[in-house]
Amino acid sequence: MRCTYCEWRCELDRERYGVCRMYYAEAGAIHERYPNRWSTYAMSRVESLPFYHAYPGSRVMTIGTSGCNFSCRYCSNGYIARRDPAEQTEAMYELSTAELVRMAVKLECHAIVFNVNEPTVSLPSLIDLKVQADKAGLPLGCLTNAYTTEEATGLLAEIFDFINIGLKGFTSAFHQEYIGVPDVAPILRNIRSLAARRHVEVTTPIIQGVNDADIEAIATFLSGIDREIPWHVFRLLPEHEMKDSAYPSIEAIDKALSGARARLAYVYFHNFVGSQWVNSACPGCGQTVIERISLGCGGDKLKHFLCAENRCPQCGYAIRMHGALVSKFHKEVAS
Ligand code: SF4
Repeated sequence: MRCTYCEWRCELDRERYGVCRMYYAEAGAIHERYPNRWSTYAMSRVESLPFYHAYPGSRVMTIGTSGCNFSCRYCSNGYIARRDPAEQTEAMYELSTAELVRMAVKLECHAIVFNVNEPTVSLPSLIDLKVQADKAGLPLGCLTNAYTTEEATGLLAEIFDFINIGLKGFTSAFHQEYIGVPDVAPILRNIRSLAARRHVEVTTPIIQGVNDADIEAIATFLSGIDREIPWHVFRLLPEHEMKDSAYPSIEAIDKALSGARARLAYVYFHNFVGSQWVNSACPGCGQTVIERISLGCGGDKLKHFLCAENRCPQCGYAIRMHGALVSKFHKEVAS
């Protein structure tokens, strides 16, 4: 039986688990091999995931499972995403989705975000989580590679209110060589589709000398959809099979982003300590409206939120924001 969750469209049976190794087919249906098994549940700030334009300052519970449909040579979560899920189950937490939501509420989280591996490989558990989260009034967010079929892209849009899509490069040649998938076209299609339905931010890890030449093309593509899509450019640290790569030059990437900054309203450059490019300027008048701190390795935090009702305090321009500042944490953030 064919799995239609992602564009691999794997043929599955009781012993064949697909590229992600997370599903099997039996009695005319696709099943998860490890439902309700979680590799992680932890507390984080929404900015560190990164979401810069959703529920600013909020505390979130981050979760993940195992397995992935990509084989990124530089995967920063290779220990979980690239290992055989069968080797990991003993170390995973077995928790019902109701228990996960109860914990998130008890820990005063404002949302739950799936961010460790690819949510597409655990869709039935996440559909279930959505039911439980709705009962508690908790929004769900995720990070995804968006290599989904059109049908599964619709499921992602139903489950998740806010989505950060990893667009790792702009050519199929790059995806074949570094990501292990044949075609970038479905990802581009799904970015358009999800941006029309949900709050979307996009993240691109930059490997100098490999995909920095794609910066202009990606900025042009995103601005053609919506020039206010927040774009996170990550300085990629050498990881996994690419540990021998050079550390990318901050100055060179910053220079390469000048054209993108003219096309897009919110271009961020981070994943290193002390980045100067983590604040938001008002697209209307240029006033700094949100200040953040970059702690490197995805440890970003909100520093000052200067908008009133998500509007620029100087000119009143509506700043792109999904949800409002989580006021409970505002005092703590601003101090
Ligand atoms: S989700 Fe997994 S099993 Fe399904 S098509 Fe994608 S890689 Fe194959």
